[in-house]
Formats: sequence, structure tokens, C-alpha cells
Amino acid sequence: MKPPNFLYARPDTLEDALRLLSEHGTGAKLLAGGQSLVPMLNLRMAEPKLLIDMNRVAELSGIERENGKLRIGALTRHRALETSREAAQAEPMIARAAREIGHLAIRNRGTIGGSIAHADPSAEWPLLAVALDARVELRSTARTRTVAAREFFTGPFTTAAGADEILTAVEFPCAPQQSGFGFQELCRRPGDFAIVAAAGRVRMRDGRCIGATLAIGGADATPRHIAEIDRIVAGSRGEDAVVREAAAAAARVLDPSGDIHASAEYRRKMAAVLVTRALREAFASVAANS
Ligand SMILES: Cc1cc2nc3c(=O)[nH]c(=O)nc-3n(C[C@H](O)[C@H](O)[C@H](O)COP(=O)(O)OP(=O)(O)OC[C@H]3O[C@@H](n4cnc5c(N)ncnc54)[C@H](O)[C@@H]3O)c2cc1C
Repeated sequence: MKPPNFLYARPDTLEDALRLLSEHGTGAKLLAGGQSLVPMLNLRMAEPKLLIDMNRVAELSGIERENGKLRIGALTRHRALETSREAAQAEPMIARAAREIGHLAIRNRGTIGGSIAHADPSAEWPLLAVALDARVELRSTARTRTVAAREFFTGPFTTAAGADEILTAVEFPCAPQQSGFGFQELCRRPGDFAIVAAAGRVRMRDGRCIGATLAIGGADATPRHIAEIDRIVAGSRGEDAVVREAAAAAARVLDPSGDIHASAEYRRKMAAVLVTRALREAFASVAANS
């Protein structure tokens, strides 16, 4: 195997990082936590001419709550999100999902922006971003734009980001009053990527559901928002028959693939099981909180 051969730059500002990226285009790769990129470099699955290390760009880190939104800088580490009081108060599912990511050493380095840009269909942050209808902020030297997470993931490890764009932040809506969440994951060993995962939130008024959102990860080319679930559970009290109908509807719309971890059929069946569990958990947590 030939030795890797690339230039390395460590800009201090976002402006400098953007300029380097616009000059080198697809020949450059951004380095955030390195927890996915460094293994890819080792395996020569990525062979950039220039590595742009963003770890000194302080303006890309941080967690801020404003106007009902939680804005998370792209370079914010998984561990910071697992332990942030501000994030836990705004959307408790964030800490719940963060602790499922790999192991502590990985969570100490890996970043939310890196995970979303990497777009692994089994990863926790893409799933949460789709489930909660988050928005992804992208910057280039020419412009800033935001894209709905539900449109950002276009395939496995593929996104709507351009070669000259840096993902700068992710914005989650804060959890509404009288709502509860469910987060369920299937993996063989703690710390593994999910084989299938489901994340959802239900919103209640006077004991009846007035809105629901749910997405499934690991069972399709991208995390899938299952819009049908909102229609099925709306108006219900979370009765078992309704939850089972929602789970069956979710399993029907998925298009899973098989691999060494699980067959396509197993993924579809487990998606239904995890949706059932996630919805039960979500309805039960509203009851517990009210
Ligand atoms: C053993 C192991 C187990 C793991 N288990 C899990 C798991 O269970 N769940 C899970 O979700 N993840 C898991 N991961 C992956 C981990 O979460 C990574 O942190 C994450 O996928 C990538 O984030 P990063 O900050 O390390 O990005 P990097 O590895 O630095 O970059 C990943 C890719 O994103 C691009 N990129 C990075 N930042 C940006 C940006 N701001 N804008 C545009 N492009 C950018 C890079 O150029 C690269 O292509 C695991 C990793 C390892 C090594």
C-alpha cells in the first residue's frame, strides 16, 4: 500500500477554512473529530490532496437555546451533547441518543457536524435530525443556507451539501410542552452502530395525541421519516391497537437492504418492533411527566 500523501492545514477561523475549501474543492477533505475520516484514510477509501483540520475553529462549537430552537455548532462533540444541561432541557432525546454513540473515547472526539455530514444511515444524529425535523446550516464563501434534515440525506453517505460547503450548525426545535419521546435501538453489542433504531415524539392535549413524529434509522438508504404515523396516532390515547397499526405502516414503507449484520427481512421486522416500543415509551413518558 502506498504511503498517504496530502497537505495539512489547520485554519483558526471559519473564513480561512471556507477559503481553503473553495480553492481546493473536491481535492480537500474537512477533518472534524476524525472518528470516521481517519479510518477511511487508513483504508485509502479517502485520498485527499489537502486535509483541512477544523479543530481550531472555535466559532463552530457551542450549544445555544433561542426562540424555541436549540442551535448546535457543527464541531460540538458527542460527549458535550450527552452531558449538556441546556440540551437536555431543550430536547431530552439528545442526551439519550448521544450515549448510544460508540464508546466514550469516540464520543470525546466525534462531532455532531461530522456525523451528519458523513451520513451513515445507522448513525444516531442523522436519525434524530430527521425524526425531530431539524435544519442543517451550510456555509460556503458565497452564501449561507439551511436545509431541512429530511431533505439533506440523499443516500448512504451522501448528502445535499456541495463540495465547497461546510456544515456549520444544526438547529433542533425544542421539545413542546406535554410531549414525550421514545428512543429504541437494536445492536448486538453496546457501542456498535444500530442495526435498526427508532426515534419519535408524541404531543398530547387532554389525554389525546395532537401530533407525532417518528423516524427509523438503519433500515433504509437514509433515516426515514414515517409521515403516516402522525395520521395514524393523531386523536388516539396511544392504545395498543393504534401503536401496532403505526408499526405495521412503518414496516411497509421501508426498503431495507441485507448485509453481514442482518437480512433485509430481519431489519423490516425489527423496525416494526422498535416502532412499537418507541411509541409505547413516548406515550408512557408523557403520562409520567404530566
Ligand atoms: C469504533 C467506532 C464506533 C462508532 N460507533 C458509532 C455509533 O454507534 N453511532 C454513530 O453515530 N457513530 C459511530 N461512530 C462514528 C462517530 O460517531 C464519528 O464521530 C462520526 O461519524 C463522524 O464525526 P467526526 O467528527 O469524527 O467526523 P470526521 O471523521 O472528522 O469526518 C467525517 C466526514 O464528514 C466530513 N465533515 C466533518 N465535519 C464536517 C463539516 N462540519 N462540514 C462538512 N463536512 C464535514 C469529513 O470531511 C468526512 O468526510 C463510530 C466510530 C468508531 C471509530
